[in-house]
Amino acid sequence: MSTQLTELFDSNREWARRTEQREPGFFSKLLEQQTPQYLWIGCADSRVPANELVDLLPGELFVHRNVANVVAHSDLNALSVIQFAVEGLKVQHIIVVGHSSCGGVRAALNDLRLGLVDNWIRHVKDVRCKHEALLDRVAPEQRLDALCELNVLEQARNVCDTTVVQDAWARGQAVVVHGWVYGLHNGLLEDLRITAATAEQVAPAYRAALDGIINRYNAA
Ligand SMILES: [Zn+2]
Repeated sequence: MSTQLTELFDSNREWARRTEQREPGFFSKLLEQQTPQYLWIGCADSRVPANELVDLLPGELFVHRNVANVVAHSDLNALSVIQFAVEGLKVQHIIVVGHSSCGGVRAALNDLRLGLVDNWIRHVKDVRCKHEALLDRVAPEQRLDALCELNVLEQARNVCDTTVVQDAWARGQAVVVHGWVYGLHNGLLEDLRITAATAEQVAPAYRAALDGIINRYNAA
């Protein structure tokens, strides 16, 4: 085992060399400014690397990640990221991205006790409680995927409800909120279609996306 992680420094030097070779001046240009169009709010899971899976370069995606892609109303970390993204960088899209087989969601579904993170996962348990009747109608083997999608829906709605996004919409700033789910098994993103570009679109988009989940999991 390497104690100095020299292999990572080696890979880093090689990556920087390749990047600069492909586009001379790449890093000096980024130094001047970042102009990403997207804010990605995803899970911390190492299997869901934000930039890589949408093939975007440094400077093109503003990223916030935590366990189970939660957007809690009082989380100053997420709120600060959202505010800077919307008001500073003027991103046009905020995308909440969950993923199948999410360990955080699994812990919430099965009441696993893991430690401090239990308190964080409580936010996902709130989602489970809110949709308990629906989840009871889903086949047990599909419940985890269904809760992953419901969690994306609720967290995307939380983004819409932040003062930052509400204020942006009130002053006519173009910012669209999305909810997607990433399949660990096939590497593909799927749009849950809770897409809202104005305050008025939030409730109908939420309802339509929820109906989509109900239909997909035969939970009517
Ligand atoms: Zn996860």
